[in-house]
Amino acid sequence: MYLLSEARGLSRDLLGGKGFGLVEMAQAGLPVPPALIITTEACRRFLREGAVPGLWEEVRAKLAALEGLVGKRFGKGEGSTPPLLVSVRSGAPVSMPGMMDTILNLGLSSEGVESLARATGNPRFAWDAFRRLLSMYGEVVLGERAEVFEGMLSALKEKRGVQSDTELSPEDLEALSFQYLRHLQERGTPFPMDPWLQLQGAIEAVFRSWLNPRAKTYRRIYGIPEDLGTAVVVQAMVYGNLGEDSGTGVGFTRNPATGEKGLYGEYLRNAQGEDVVAGIRTPEPLSRLKEYAPELYREIERVAHLLERHFRDMQDFEFTVERGRLYLLQTRSGKRTAQAAVRIAVEMAEEGLISKEEAVLRVEANALPGLLKPTVDREKAPKPILRGLPASPGAAFGHAVFSNEAAERYTAQGLPTILVRPETTPEDITGMYLSKGILTARGGLTSHAAVVARGLGVPAVVGAEALRVVPEEGRAWVDGLEIQEGELLTLDGSTGEVYLGAVPLAEAAEEELLHKLLSWAEPHRSLGVRANADTPLDAQRARAFGAEGIGLCRTEHMFFQEERLPWVRRLILARTPEEEAEALERLFVFQKEDFKGILKAMDGLPVTVRLLDPPLHEFLPSLEELKVQAEAGDEEAKALWERAKALAEQNPMLGFRGIRLLLLRPGIFRMQLRALLEAAKELREEGFDPRPEVMVPLVADPKEVERAKALAEELFREYGPIPFGTMIETPRAALLASEIAPLVDFFSFGTNDLTQMAFGLSRDDAGKFLPQYVEEGLFPFDPTERLDEKGVGRLLRLAVQEGKRANPRLKVGLCGEHGGEARSVAFVADLLDYTSASPFRVLTARLAAAQAGL
Ligand code: PEP
Ligand code: MG
Repeated sequence: MYLLSEARGLSRDLLGGKGFGLVEMAQAGLPVPPALIITTEACRRFLREGAVPGLWEEVRAKLAALEGLVGKRFGKGEGSTPPLLVSVRSGAPVSMPGMMDTILNLGLSSEGVESLARATGNPRFAWDAFRRLLSMYGEVVLGERAEVFEGMLSALKEKRGVQSDTELSPEDLEALSFQYLRHLQERGTPFPMDPWLQLQGAIEAVFRSWLNPRAKTYRRIYGIPEDLGTAVVVQAMVYGNLGEDSGTGVGFTRNPATGEKGLYGEYLRNAQGEDVVAGIRTPEPLSRLKEYAPELYREIERVAHLLERHFRDMQDFEFTVERGRLYLLQTRSGKRTAQAAVRIAVEMAEEGLISKEEAVLRVEANALPGLLKPTVDREKAPKPILRGLPASPGAAFGHAVFSNEAAERYTAQGLPTILVRPETTPEDITGMYLSKGILTARGGLTSHAAVVARGLGVPAVVGAEALRVVPEEGRAWVDGLEIQEGELLTLDGSTGEVYLGAVPLAEAAEEELLHKLLSWAEPHRSLGVRANADTPLDAQRARAFGAEGIGLCRTEHMFFQEERLPWVRRLILARTPEEEAEALERLFVFQKEDFKGILKAMDGLPVTVRLLDPPLHEFLPSLEELKVQAEAGDEEAKALWERAKALAEQNPMLGFRGIRLLLLRPGIFRMQLRALLEAAKELREEGFDPRPEVMVPLVADPKEVERAKALAEELFREYGPIPFGTMIETPRAALLASEIAPLVDFFSFGTNDLTQMAFGLSRDDAGKFLPQYVEEGLFPFDPTERLDEKGVGRLLRLAVQEGKRANPRLKVGLCGEHGGEARSVAFVADLLDYTSASPFRVLTARLAAAQAGL
């Protein structure tokens, strides 16, 4: 247990965040009311053993010292000197809502109240302080519900016909205090008039609040250790409610929304801190002080400046003004938006307050994609009608459409659209591409809608379970609310919220600051960063964000474009080698142009093309649709229907796809690879520098790779070789890495499928229950979003180690969605040669990889 002056140099772990901040402030010469801090160690002991030997003696001794410092006696007024009252607060080493917060005015009794009234000449203030103590103490120490006290207060206000507490007379507040006292007495939990007993009760209540169910849940969700314990801060009271020259406020040393430099905050005249929090009265902007109390304002500015200098970060501080004198009660690093985080980090480095390296470390890499996009201006937004998973950042509004055809119709008229689907399939690509936003009722963060949206940079909210979509009718429902085609919707893919109507958007952050920050980060990065991109536009965008090549170019989206689908379908239906050859020849022409465009956009940089991955039936209309057309007499539909039935699988994700399909229908393999090689050849002839690489998906056995390699080599003999690799996305491939590695130039870990198969968890459906799983603490996080280091990470590490041992020249990369998630990137930063992320997340990957190197 320490007085502020005795606790210099002690750790935050011991003093708790609040206590630590007070000690630091006192040390920096800032005006802080004297306080004593009971350490987290005492709390741990109390919880373990039920008591702390010598605790109360020590509290008494320190309290006596505190009395000396302020020149008042605890709970006892003397003549014109009011009694010393204290606040008692909890303060864990990490900020933790859910625990007991604050009891103010502790030490007051029916006797003390009289002397407080006399000494201040303000009976109203004294009785108000007492009734506040009674209700706070009644609630947090004696266990009565807050509503009971509020009920009595409201009843009194009603009786007097007044709106606000401040309109009650001293006599009213006195009567109310006695009503509270009587109530607690009758309830069998009398309020202790002895200040000392009050203090003991409050300290023990703080200790015990560590075990509140809410606090426990919070710790579980955020992975905070159970055994930290909380410190207790006992601090001499100062009063913001002594008149118009008193008040209480909250300040930020820089604007927490924009990061702009300068004092920002709110102030409430003639009030105690809890009035601000309780929202009873609306505070005024701090800047108003400039008009009626300019000196005070300057003093707060000076203090804000000192706080930043001392803590070297933007601070969020609480203060009280007692009869014109400023006191600081708390300070901590302020929460801020991503935009503010970037501005503050860069500007503080430029001001010389922190180093460039510190600036790089201070920005949360996962927040970067959201920075480049507008967001919903929450201050001006109505209540959202729906919530889903924030799948692709940015906000957009547009007219609800339920099909590709409707998206085209609206777009042709120059109208923005939001594509609303139960879930998306590759067939929806046109609508997804044209729309400003995508909304689905089903699917998780690696569902088709989410992956494609991030790739396209289109904001998306997926898995909004309360949404029912009937595309055939062009309608959707949220509870009772019907959404028809054309209805205006706004969605925010950074928060997962959906609004009715066109909601005002806030502009994106200035990119200049971001690029400056990244330029400081770059020298610390050794992990390569590529992009997942399958159109020239995506490739360009990714390159602009600093991608050093393409780590995954999926080829299936190319098969879905309108003019190609008939040929894909002919390929599926082909009965003779000639029919197949004709279809492939047509597709070759398209595919070659696709590759040329992408290779050109990434000129001079590697482009890893993945050969066809999905099962063939994904390219056919649904069985129901075909059935209807076939029964209506459409001959082609009939043939397709028969074929679709033959191709249908119970479990297509584990079916006839990937390498299996490529080996048994080698015509597709040859066509794709030849298109890639031919595209590169033509570009070289045009003076470009294409760097194609090819890889095969879903391998589970070295034999498959061997066969694929043999097929590839047939073409390499004709065109010259290019790097040949395999994805590692089945657990078996990871386990057999030493046998596969000698056959290839590189591994690319497909962590989407690897996670799906390692967990036995469908990446398309798990969104239905995974959030709850995480909430209940069954999983520490969603493994489809962040790489599971324990299991999937172990497979990865093993495959890298054994693969490299078997083939020292083996290159290793990652191209699942985890490749753009900061903590996953940090995990692989020393393990792999490169990571590959969707274009907008290239920035995240770059920053996270640099942070890992610092
Ligand atoms: C993967 O499985 O991680 C991968 C990149 O492939 P896809 O997402 O296309 O299945
Ligand atoms: Mg895959």
